[in-house]
Amino acid sequence: MIAIIRPDVEQQKIDSLCDWLRSRGLGVHVAVGEFQTIVGLIGDTTALDIGLLEGLDIVERVQRISEPFKSANRKFHPDDTVIEVGGVKLGGGNFAMIAGPCSVENRNQILQVARSVKESGAGFLRGGAFKPRTSPYDFQGLAAEGIDLLLEAKRETGMPIVTEIMSAHHLPLFEHVDVIQVGARNIQNFELLKELGHIDKPILLKRGIAGTLKELLMSAEYVMAGGNEKIILCERGIRSYETATRNTLDLSAVPVLHELSHLPVVVDPSHATGVARLVRPMALAAAAAGADGLMIEVHNDPRNALCDGAQSLTPEEFADVARRVREIRSIIHD
Ligand code: PEP
Ligand code: MN
Repeated sequence: MIAIIRPDVEQQKIDSLCDWLRSRGLGVHVAVGEFQTIVGLIGDTTALDIGLLEGLDIVERVQRISEPFKSANRKFHPDDTVIEVGGVKLGGGNFAMIAGPCSVENRNQILQVARSVKESGAGFLRGGAFKPRTSPYDFQGLAAEGIDLLLEAKRETGMPIVTEIMSAHHLPLFEHVDVIQVGARNIQNFELLKELGHIDKPILLKRGIAGTLKELLMSAEYVMAGGNEKIILCERGIRSYETATRNTLDLSAVPVLHELSHLPVVVDPSHATGVARLVRPMALAAAAAGADGLMIEVHNDPRNALCDGAQSLTPEEFADVARRVREIRSIIHD
């Protein structure tokens, strides 16, 4: 439920409303918008006298939120959330590219890729240190060493880093990581999501392989319910009956998520297609659909990559995609 406050009400009156709601055992979330303040009520509102709330002179209107996700809901928070890390912004009209290899493989690889994607305009460096591989016999990532190498690349280039977590036990290793990714396989690992709710770092949540958009938003809600509201949503393709591509990119996820939620939405055309030559058209389409960012796999030597080489762009191909994405964005923002 939300209480929409009349314009120009003094802060002190809003504070005392919030205190009263808390004394009724409810959680309170205040969203201060450009024109209006919205007080969100979290928890069991059945014991609350709605008539009393509606009758308050500072309250313009009370509205029930029927969707099960509250904190992630745009009704709760009409303005777009902007995530800012190390001077790079995502959301609310700010667009950023997250680029880098599927996995961190060695020092030379990650430094070379980091320098090149930065040069091409990427805002964030990505790279997996803990890899969720289908086969236990495949390369599992360099773990702590991989994170150290990403941090070295960050020190050298100044780019914030994004890397995937697979277990809350590894959290101490992520202390200097800028954005923690939860991958498609772990997106309903609710215990992990709860732990991430207690830290103060942006979390990038990838849609599950067979996950609905509502389920993705409920995963965001798990993190937000713990107090961490810095969430980036990521559409990375869903499993369908089509076999020509690794997954099926659901581009309508971008406008639908923007309607339902205030959280920034990025698209990963690499995992969505699994095919390097399809990354460019899908990246451009995602930018045209209004994505707030793109996550793209880039490798200095895709043919010899230890993971996801077939979908990885060379640094030169990434430079071309980045340039064309900027062109598309300049058209849609005209
Ligand atoms: C990745 O980003 O490297 C990854 C494993 O992605 P997903 O969880 O979307 O498969
Ligand atoms: Mn990958």
